[in-house]
Amino acid sequence: MILDSLLGMFSVDMGIDLGTCNTLVCVKGEGIVLNEPSVVAVKRGTNRVLNDGNAVGLVAKEMLGKTPGSISAIRPLKDGVIADFDITEAMLGYFIRKVHGRSNFFKPRVVIAVPSGITAVEKRAVYNSAERAGARRVYLVDEPMAAGIGAGLPVAEATASMIVDVGGGTTEVAIMSLADIAVCESIRVAGDDMDEAIINYLRRNYNLMVGQQTAEQIKIEIGSISDLDEELSREVRGRDMISGLPRKTVVSSQEIREALGEPVSAVIDCVTRTLERAEPELAADLVENGVWLAGGGALLRGLDAVMGQSTGLDVRLVDDPLSCVARGTAVYLDNLALWKETMESDADDL
Ligand code: ADP
Ligand code: MG
Repeated sequence: MILDSLLGMFSVDMGIDLGTCNTLVCVKGEGIVLNEPSVVAVKRGTNRVLNDGNAVGLVAKEMLGKTPGSISAIRPLKDGVIADFDITEAMLGYFIRKVHGRSNFFKPRVVIAVPSGITAVEKRAVYNSAERAGARRVYLVDEPMAAGIGAGLPVAEATASMIVDVGGGTTEVAIMSLADIAVCESIRVAGDDMDEAIINYLRRNYNLMVGQQTAEQIKIEIGSISDLDEELSREVRGRDMISGLPRKTVVSSQEIREALGEPVSAVIDCVTRTLERAEPELAADLVENGVWLAGGGALLRGLDAVMGQSTGLDVRLVDDPLSCVARGTAVYLDNLALWKETMESDADDL
């Protein structure tokens, strides 16, 4: 341990939020140093990453939906499960090397937050990938726990803290106490499904086909789940399904609200199910402590209010919902000795 801490002074120990949509890397003492989409561009039909392994992140995201026949841009963690181990490894390796740099002689210790729903086999794959990418020691933590810590919730105390993390591919709901997860649920409905719902709505109601990126922009710009003081509208461009030609139309926030109904209900049902499973003492704490929303999906206008109405609890957003898991991994790094017990750090345990 002493040797480990000494080495830690010379290497860039890092915390990684390996998200289905975005990967963030935090370095001890420096905060967030990398924030890129979890996307990899490969030669179609292979798992060879383009540009000598460098078509990862921002560069690759720009290719999504626009790739010519010979290239495909892949989100290896899309549904919260690792669809392709090799590509995930290439991506994680790229991010670790990018932050660590080749000049650094000592290997880093790495804390990685992974979706709590992933299997032991997938955890082992993440673990091995990080080791192969040059990590000296790898610790895996559950994403909701990291989110709670990043949000500054008293997760280690004898009181309940509840996190609802709405990401791209998965929504993770967890009630924590005494540095452990008491109840958790993870569903594969989150931001991506909201985009998908918008695509379907426009196809059904306007005969207009739009891409995933356009749908995401619409959601971010005018998406909401409760009435807005001033309703919004936006021009949308895509391809007409009947004529096959490019066309534009205008959609309103009311229409998008209708489109988002289904995925949002699924998220809220998941929250109520988790609450129903909580022990009475923990439930009692939540009346006082409320529920905290994290992840990019938390930013959907009105989600906090609607969730508050359906649970009867105080629902609030954590500070900067998109980075709170990464900030949580940084707290783990600062307190490795303290938190070690609660983390899985040996591949044999997985
Ligand atoms: P993950 O942890 O799975 O990588 P993130 O927490 O990074 O996911 O959140 C990404 C999701 O949040 C995406 O689906 C994105 O469209 C969505 N998102 C980001 N900003 C907003 C916003 N302002 N309103 C609604 N959704 C948003
Ligand atoms: Mg996340």
